[in-house]
Amino acid sequence: MKISKILIANRGEIALRVVKTCKRLGIETVTIFASDDARLPHACAGDENIALGRGSLSDTYLNAEKIIQIAQETKAQAIHPGYGFLSENTDFCKMVQEAGLIFIGPSTHAIELMGDKKTSKVKMEEIGIPLIPGYHGDDQDPALLFEEAKKIGFPVLIKATAGGGGKGMRIVETEKGFSDALDASKREALNAFKNDKVLLEKYIINPRHIEVQLVSDGKKNHFHFFERECSIQRRYQKVIEETPSVALTPELRREICESAVKIAAGIDYVGAGTIEYILGPDNKFYFLEMNTRLQVEHPITEMVTGFDLVELQIMAAEGKAFPFEQKDIKQIGHALECRIYAEDPDVDFLPTNGRIQKIELPSSIDYRLDCGYMDGNQISLNYDPMLAKLITFGEEREEAIESMQESLNVVCFGGTKTNRDYLKRVLDHEKFMSGDIHTHFLAQEKDFLEIGEPSEFEVVAICASILFKESIPFKNVWDQEKIGYTKKILLDGEEFKVLVKSFGNDNLELEYFGEKYKFHFTYKKGNSIGFTGHGGDFQAEFFLLNTNGEYQLFLNHGEFKVKSFGKVERANSAVVVGAGSLQSPMPGKIFKILKDKGQKVIAGETVLILEAMKMEHAIKAPKDGVVTDIFFKEGEQVQGGVSLCDIDSE
Ligand code: ADP
Ligand code: ADP
Ligand code: MG
Repeated sequence: MKISKILIANRGEIALRVVKTCKRLGIETVTIFASDDARLPHACAGDENIALGRGSLSDTYLNAEKIIQIAQETKAQAIHPGYGFLSENTDFCKMVQEAGLIFIGPSTHAIELMGDKKTSKVKMEEIGIPLIPGYHGDDQDPALLFEEAKKIGFPVLIKATAGGGGKGMRIVETEKGFSDALDASKREALNAFKNDKVLLEKYIINPRHIEVQLVSDGKKNHFHFFERECSIQRRYQKVIEETPSVALTPELRREICESAVKIAAGIDYVGAGTIEYILGPDNKFYFLEMNTRLQVEHPITEMVTGFDLVELQIMAAEGKAFPFEQKDIKQIGHALECRIYAEDPDVDFLPTNGRIQKIELPSSIDYRLDCGYMDGNQISLNYDPMLAKLITFGEEREEAIESMQESLNVVCFGGTKTNRDYLKRVLDHEKFMSGDIHTHFLAQEKDFLEIGEPSEFEVVAICASILFKESIPFKNVWDQEKIGYTKKILLDGEEFKVLVKSFGNDNLELEYFGEKYKFHFTYKKGNSIGFTGHGGDFQAEFFLLNTNGEYQLFLNHGEFKVKSFGKVERANSAVVVGAGSLQSPMPGKIFKILKDKGQKVIAGETVLILEAMKMEHAIKAPKDGVVTDIFFKEGEQVQGGVSLCDIDSE
């Protein structure tokens, strides 16, 4: 049956990805969106876009009844579930079919069989696929599990049979830690999957994660689309993927791909699926699990094979036999994917939120960006923090890496912290370059991959960026008398002081650790500033992060978190004046000045009121003192982060 209208039961980049192929094939689309996603691009990407309303995930993207009802009302014939959410939910799959609709994915039976790590292992044994030595029996008696763990030999990995996304997984190094880890794993599994059954596996030290992409048409054509290596992981979750894997010899590649095809045939699979394997340092590979859906990292396979996997999914769902054979599928060149997450790798990968003020993309490099967001979108902590996937291609691995490095230097998500610079550090690591990686690479190289101390030159260039930003076009703030002072900035949480030697007529001279640096202002465009100096061209772009006056600064290829303090101490003064200068926390208008020059203020007293974002913000004195200067008049516009007035202690 020809499908002419598809409902996409997902959000963000994967919803857009499916729309793209449907458009190309002339298939109509229906997208759905929760109310907090109403401004995301996918919420208007379909031919019809239906609101799911407010509420928790079970009211929106996991609301099977509602989604099926929308499909019926919009006369969609099929549902594409994307990944995550309802993509591997057998109840949903059944309900879709009972409603007379097509589920774009495998049979309910296949999802059920492979969705459970235990039943899938039993099946793999039957088909004759190598398993990691372990225990996956029904008997969950802790004493028996302990005996089995001893038989396997430590270290042992405890896994939730219903597991996914790394949840419920615990490494146990020695006999002593077993009982506590078992309890913790069961608790986490019960919580996440309402099922506390576990299995045990030998913990393979420093393995690689290799997976094979499969697509079956349901007409006995079970094809593999070669491997992907996904060894760069944090918390058992993939961060960088590539294909081909440098770890596979042609023989090993053939063996592992044939094993995957054997699985697809052995379970009568239909649609796209992925067999995940663990490859030990001894080059032995073991079945890990099967994902019965389109995978996040599928684009790299599309890059090297030239096939559109979503198109193949749709063909399989329509019951069409593939008009090609295994030998027509070729692996050409090398592709790399980096997942851009809204998270701070330097703070334990903590998810970040905020508003994406501006997405900037490379213009001169070939890349593919699958991105679910656009300028102005708010990042919600209710969803997965993956913002986008950046994919590059090269004839050789080095070329793909180089394109990725160049793309990452330019791509920026202004307004929200991402893992971009961390990804760059991973790509720059010599072991990554040489392909010497394993699933614990990120954990093992943690110290090396952490953000380093800024170089002296970086501190100076950042300080220059800030000074130019603050002074232009407010040159009047910087009169000659004020020259010769120290400028204090906060850079990624640390304080730095740089001496301002002279500043005027677009020229700036700084001194830092006895070295002099000269810069020349060249342009200002929106929140971007350009300057030259020290044989280089600089481009600085500022995004206000919060009302504390903290900015995200993109300076040439680096991202920094900065905060500027007003002019602080006079440079030659023996006594450090603990002067406070008040800054505007954001761009706005001076609404009212309550304290004039010369007036006394006490700590906490409002000095002036700034009007911004239709709200009034009281700017308060940080300590007792006298207002020595006010740089603006009522009604004047100010930028964020500029000095508004000076208060000196008496
Ligand atoms: P993969 O191997 O493709 O990364 P996982 O099984 O780890 O697959 O998870 C699938 C993907 O689905 C995750 O990477 C994640 O981005 C996405 N995902 C999982 N749960 C959700 C969710 N609740 N909302 C949105 N995306 C999700
Ligand atoms: P999930 O369903 O959460 O994706 P997987 O079984 O696919 O769980 O495992 C996720 C990751 O955990 C793998 O990619 C690998 O890095 C690691 N892992 C899983 N099993 C083992 C094992 N037996 N030994 C070493 N690492 C493992
Ligand atoms: Mg997995």
